[in-house]
Amino acid sequence: MTCWPSVIVATPAHSGVSASLSYRSELLLAPGTLVRVPLGRREVLGVVWDCPTEPPEGLTEAQTRDVAGTLDGLPPLNARWRQLVKFAGQYYQRSLGEVALAALPPQLRELDNTQLARRLKRRTQAAAQPAEANAAPHTEPELSPEQAEALAALDAASAPVLLFGATGSGKTEVYLRATLQVLDAAPIDGVASQVLVMVPEINLTPQLEARFRERFEPLYGAGAVVCLHSGMTPAQRLASWLAAHTGVARIVLGTRMAIFASMPGLRLIVVDEEHDPSYKSQEGARYSARDLAVYRAKIETEALASTGKAGVRCQVILGSATPSLESWHAADQGRYLRLAMPARIGGGSLPRLRLVDMNHQPKGAVIAPPLLAAMGERIARGEQCLVLLNRRGYAPVLACHDCGWKSSCPHCSAYRVFHKLDRTLRCHHCGFTERVPRACPDCGNLDIAPVGRGTEQVEEQLAALLAGARRLDGNPPRVARMDADSTRLKGSLETQLAALHSGEVDVLVGTQMIAKGHDFRRITLVAGINVDAALFASDHRAPERLFALLMQAGGRAGRDAAQSAGSEMWVQTWTPQHPLFAALKTHDFPAFAAEQIAEREIAGMPPFGAQALLRADARSQAAAQAFLNLAASQATGLPHRDDITLYPSVPLTIQRVANVERAQMLVESASRGALQRFLSAWGPVLHDCRSAPEAKGLVRWAVDVDPLVV
Ligand code: ADP
Ligand code: ZN
Ligand code: ZN
Repeated sequence: MTCWPSVIVATPAHSGVSASLSYRSELLLAPGTLVRVPLGRREVLGVVWDCPTEPPEGLTEAQTRDVAGTLDGLPPLNARWRQLVKFAGQYYQRSLGEVALAALPPQLRELDNTQLARRLKRRTQAAAQPAEANAAPHTEPELSPEQAEALAALDAASAPVLLFGATGSGKTEVYLRATLQVLDAAPIDGVASQVLVMVPEINLTPQLEARFRERFEPLYGAGAVVCLHSGMTPAQRLASWLAAHTGVARIVLGTRMAIFASMPGLRLIVVDEEHDPSYKSQEGARYSARDLAVYRAKIETEALASTGKAGVRCQVILGSATPSLESWHAADQGRYLRLAMPARIGGGSLPRLRLVDMNHQPKGAVIAPPLLAAMGERIARGEQCLVLLNRRGYAPVLACHDCGWKSSCPHCSAYRVFHKLDRTLRCHHCGFTERVPRACPDCGNLDIAPVGRGTEQVEEQLAALLAGARRLDGNPPRVARMDADSTRLKGSLETQLAALHSGEVDVLVGTQMIAKGHDFRRITLVAGINVDAALFASDHRAPERLFALLMQAGGRAGRDAAQSAGSEMWVQTWTPQHPLFAALKTHDFPAFAAEQIAEREIAGMPPFGAQALLRADARSQAAAQAFLNLAASQATGLPHRDDITLYPSVPLTIQRVANVERAQMLVESASRGALQRFLSAWGPVLHDCRSAPEAKGLVRWAVDVDPLVV
């Protein structure tokens, strides 16, 4: 029998190629089947979407080419997976083909059936292996009352759960128990249950992976836990993907990309640190993995409900000590169930806030004298300190005081950062790197000097400032640095973390990287030394992010109850009266959130209104804005145009990167539905605008729905 499967292939968002292409096949192909099909002169990977037995209208038999082959041994991608990618494509205004194919491991496109068979066999063999012989079954700690209560509430919950647990309250243990419960459940229609655990950056939290492996490998075998993130090789990614797709892996631990993993038995999704901006993709389809997690759990639950089995569902847990205002608001409205775990495990207290008013400190002090003294005391007691500064390198600018030359990047509207260790000027936006000039390139003055401070400099200065202090062993303190530069080499992050855990290092200076998830035992003092910029940024989410960062960083201190009584969070600021600090002082996230949400309501900002950005990159700023303005004028008469506010086009804060000029236009509506329908109608118009004479010089354009930075 001849059929005409419609097949989804990777088409760029706005290529004009329709969503699916028709082919011919002598076999009836189930929707979701992975196939190879000819496209132009190439053969590409595709997903069967539908398989009608009648030729599509207006298509002669001669026009359709044959499906080249199916990927043998792979079960079709199920209906829920297809619904997920379809929704993501529509919601984020990208083509279905782009989203669907980007969600599959790249290596799947390259393997023939023999190679694929070999990979599949390797997978199942790995799974059949018993857990390592010497892996003693892990003993579970007894739950704290709060954990037990949260788990009981989870069990009864039908809405998405917002697990609002202080740092160190034992959220991970709750995830582990919830996972165990799901994995223990009986298979449904022969499909074993699976759990998806998402984390912002997997490399920063090796402990989480270790805890899941340690807990579940002895129970479910060595192949039961797999990772999925962009740091893996194509071969590793394929292996994990196959394991998840075939049900061999029971737990997938991954970053935002893992939201698209094919998991036929999915029963639980955990989104740890759900407020983290890295869940939002900043390229291609700009999806929010957290929001998709909520959607995915909902459609999985609906499908399970339709099997008629009582009580089966797919649950979603969003966990954070500082939830996003979107999730917080959803809980306020009762759409999510909020479960609070305010107490730290072991009864430890959260660090006390010490604000340093920089107006009253000696001029030019990097570290205020009282903070320095406090650090010295900690070190003398064998305790450790973390110093947080969100700026890599030695100094953000190098300048000549004679002629005013500054280390601008020739390709960007930004300064190149001075890195003293390798004596380079590096652009953090385009990567352009040069050796530091010996003299001012403009006037020849030999005295060019760094302006401002980065982590390299603070590391250097702290070592000097603390030289007089002594460790327990009588030696001078050791200061180390951890940021994207120091951890670039493979394995270096692990080495640095180990040095901190072993107590070899007394003070760790670093970027936000050091504030995330680590379970450090001997840190009793955390200091944020340059936080004011975030208080006055034009970005309305900046205070929220600063609050989360400081709470997270503070969460690294005093994790050992015995020491926690004296643990402190120091913040150096020029505006100690800022209300953010009042809430931080009492660790009162609910108060802070309520105040921020009230502000947003007045301003009509998310979650009270919906936003999107139209972004344009072009050879000139004029061309970028001309495209945006044309797009706006062409929107007249589109559905819901009256419910939409189109703001004037503006250059981005860093307007030029790698010689490309960037501009954007904010699109706002009080109604998410209206915004969605308007955007879908606008898409084809935007595509046409691209080829208009006004848009000459346009490099690319994109729509960002629910943007994080506007
Ligand atoms: P969070 O993720 O909420 O910051 P963690 O899950 O990392 O907190 O827990 C903090 C520490 O407490 C960890 O070292 C963990 O092993 C420990 N812990 C968690 N739950 C318990 C428990 N019920 N009994 C004893 N220790 C626990
Ligand atoms: Zn000069
Ligand atoms: Zn640059």
